Amino acid sequence: MSENIISTVAKNNLVIVVGNRPQFIKLAPVVEELNKRELSYTVVHTGQHYDHQMSGVFFKELGIRKPDIQIQLNSRLHGAMTAEILEKLESIFLEITPKGILLFGDTNSTLAAGLAAVKLKIPIAHVEAGPRLGSFDTPEESNRLIVDHLSVLRFCCDLYSIENLKREGITSGVVNSGDVMYDAFLKYSGQSRVTKNGNRKSIYLTLHRPQNVDSLEAHLEILDFIKQCGCDVFFPLHARTKAKIEELDLMDKYKSIESLTLSEPLGYVESIGQINAADVVMTDSGGVQKEAYFAGKLAILMLPEGPWPDLISSGWLLLGGWVSQQQMLATFKRISGSALPDVRPDFFGVGRAAEIIVDELVKKRLL
Ligand code: UDP
Repeated sequence: MSENIISTVAKNNLVIVVGNRPQFIKLAPVVEELNKRELSYTVVHTGQHYDHQMSGVFFKELGIRKPDIQIQLNSRLHGAMTAEILEKLESIFLEITPKGILLFGDTNSTLAAGLAAVKLKIPIAHVEAGPRLGSFDTPEESNRLIVDHLSVLRFCCDLYSIENLKREGITSGVVNSGDVMYDAFLKYSGQSRVTKNGNRKSIYLTLHRPQNVDSLEAHLEILDFIKQCGCDVFFPLHARTKAKIEELDLMDKYKSIESLTLSEPLGYVESIGQINAADVVMTDSGGVQKEAYFAGKLAILMLPEGPWPDLISSGWLLLGGWVSQQQMLATFKRISGSALPDVRPDFFGVGRAAEIIVDELVKKRLL
């Protein structure tokens, strides 16, 4: 589908902009709720993640209708990509005159859509508003901070996010919705057929941040860890990670490790199935660290800071730091002997986030 389909798309309604894997997953519970209430909306896919395994598979398995408008992106660098999405979304918004825009998370698509909408005075609602790391080392921090400030509705997953917004002077339009990812997890977790093989401990590993997968040094650390940890490791390769491994000519080294299962990017149901089946999760993903918690698994976050402090203070998540600056094995040993914490409170709501979000969108007349 291409941009010239715009003339056939519904106008004057809610426009939802998504562009990458976690956003397709967050979209699913929201469109399900919109469909249930027979509310009209238009989905624009910015093309940030474009191949079947990083995009199409989620629309199919999560029952989301195909995007109404599909942008074809030419740029790959952050600035150029953001500018290109902004320019394209501006013409789309001018043509279909949205009543409101719904955005998720903190990607370049989120930022570009926020800027395009605010310049046209279209009200913005932002799902997953408020998490902060306190530094601009990752591009996501500036994206979410700017969009939070541009929005009229800010849906927060947890209480920390609400506090962060308050510290920045934002108190209106803040809604404690809980996390749509928890809605999705509750719905799909039982559908996976992944089972544990054998008696050895197992690790579900996902890595995709540039600091963790772009350098040879980082991959040598990862390879060393997988060989020495004494566990079966399941490692689905994010498109970016796979490209880097190939560029560094390391694929054969990975493939030669017997205890390692490499795979293409998984569909959502299998991804949460693998989390459910693992003993420990190691990840640099914003979403996977929460899913480990939803599944009651201990996890190590391969980032210097975590956006969800409750996961760390409750003892379910250990901060590992960047792979390249770390002894992964030492971090793993710290967690692998630990007992599970006694409690797992509802830090991220009770699985009704989509319902709360749609209620507020209706109240604020964004659709
Ligand atoms: N995920 C997936 N397939 C995979 C790895 C992850 O469906 O092979 C899911 C995962 O369960 C979570 C989401 O993708 O729901 C997280 O996306 P990602 O790690 O790409 O981005 P982040 O959360 O860091 O923004």
